[in-house]
Amino acid sequence: MSNPVPQSLLSLAQEMDHTGQQLLLRWEPEQARRFGALVQCLQGLAEQSGAEPLLRANAELATQLRGWARRRRSSEDVLQLRQQLSLVTQLASLPLPEQSGGSATPLRQSHRLFLLAPGQSLPGGVQEQLACFGYVLDVFDSLPALQQALQQHEPGALIIHHAFDGSEPPLPQLRLPCPLLFTSQRRDFAARLQAVRAGGQGFVGWPLSVRELLEALARPASTDPRNPLRVLLVEDMSSLAGLYAAVLNRHGIMTEEVNRPSETLEAIERFHPDLILMDMHMPECNGQELARIIRQQQLMDGIPILFLTMEKRQDVQLDALSLGVDGYLTKPVSSEELVVTVSTRASRYRKLRSYIATDSLTGLLNHSHLFARLEHEFARAQRERKPLSMVMLDLDHFKRINDSYGHQAGDEVLVSLSRFLQERLRRSDVLGRYGGEEFAIALPGMTTEQAVRLLDELREAFARLEHASPRGRFRQTFSAGVCSNEGVWDVVALVQRADSMLYRAKEAGRNGVLGWTAELAGGE
Ligand code: GH3
Ligand code: MG
Ligand code: MG
Ligand code: MG
Repeated sequence: MSNPVPQSLLSLAQEMDHTGQQLLLRWEPEQARRFGALVQCLQGLAEQSGAEPLLRANAELATQLRGWARRRRSSEDVLQLRQQLSLVTQLASLPLPEQSGGSATPLRQSHRLFLLAPGQSLPGGVQEQLACFGYVLDVFDSLPALQQALQQHEPGALIIHHAFDGSEPPLPQLRLPCPLLFTSQRRDFAARLQAVRAGGQGFVGWPLSVRELLEALARPASTDPRNPLRVLLVEDMSSLAGLYAAVLNRHGIMTEEVNRPSETLEAIERFHPDLILMDMHMPECNGQELARIIRQQQLMDGIPILFLTMEKRQDVQLDALSLGVDGYLTKPVSSEELVVTVSTRASRYRKLRSYIATDSLTGLLNHSHLFARLEHEFARAQRERKPLSMVMLDLDHFKRINDSYGHQAGDEVLVSLSRFLQERLRRSDVLGRYGGEEFAIALPGMTTEQAVRLLDELREAFARLEHASPRGRFRQTFSAGVCSNEGVWDVVALVQRADSMLYRAKEAGRNGVLGWTAELAGGE
């Protein structure tokens, strides 16, 4: 496949991210070459735009990549490459404000966490468990030590331990580039109020529980730079689209441009926007027609659509409102109006969607939305004649965990597994709670063999995790069945085959992964 010409730093960064994530999961020479080419391509673009921090970060990425190709890759390497990749793609997709005085920008290391806990000792195993989720936790015993580290690194979050009982000095006023969380033995209202007043964006109990910490870190804040809002711009004039994109990007909103209406559906599928900003007047078809087409697709129906129009007449605007369009921005639009209107609607939609489509305990797709996404991915894989693997995963002897450690501990394992899978899978993978203690995963692009290998790695890593409960510590394993779309006619059959392999894996003694073969299926 020939390398496409990149349209912009942003789209190049997205492609790099996508390819890089695949590479992190599975090293394949062809994919590595492609990734290397993208890194070189980015270097050229960054040179043109004089983006110093990006240039440096990308050069470092290229060096790591070269080293990686030569020797065996350790899990430390994987973590480093993942961090460098996220740094590069972040720098490339969210232009940083002008630097003051030309000093070096500290690297954003979003998977590094700082904890300030003078005189406290960390519960055993917390750092190891966090490492399984890709986080590195640095603990500081004094404020000066923390401040010194903050000058060198920009962590993904800072966690401060505080007693909130008047026994400690007042909370320091820190100017932080990252979210601030508090942790305390006290969990009452007065403590929480003090934490909020000190600028805390999250509050977790002490001793630290990994699950609670992960929850707090994952809570989507509208300003979370790891998870920017996504806006699709449909505008035939690319110079204009570029202008809107620049304004939105400057405010941390990610954009993708479509200049031809006919490319819109595909862009929605690929980009998963939180909002569509659409020009009313385009050559192939007008905005109202395009909005109607979008509204006819089940999975796209809820995405808010905002029209950009020069039309100031109320009656024409009202007419389009009745088509399920969510509002108007009249050209020329001020950047303030653009940013405020777009970000409030996009974040509200994101929040609503997360409530409707997800399971309340784990935050994963619920059964019905899972099936809709599976149908969709299956149809796409068939159309593009690409492999897709389906995984059914079930916790082993989970009833015993509930019986021995309590239902609450069981719930925590379910949440832990969900976070674990979310961290390890690619953005393009589909992950849902099939029911109870059963999960379903669709892996686009993966054959049965590849999926079995991946799941086996995940199985081993998860089995090493220790879970804590008031009644003691324990470990939990899972079993999985895998089947690819080869020779399969629909999603129901695919799920059945994966499920029958799960059953076989249970029969074979649990804590295992089995891929579908005709023999195993008993000549089905
Ligand atoms: P197997 O290895 O054969 O899968 O054994 P198992 O005990 O995991 O399977 P079984 O189907 O017998 O029991 C499933 C258990 O999962 C029973 C149920 O209480 C528990 N479970 C299902 N949903 C939840 C949940 O949301 N929270 C908790 N804590 N437990 C759940
Ligand atoms: Mg136009
Ligand atoms: Mg089970
Ligand atoms: Mg079950």
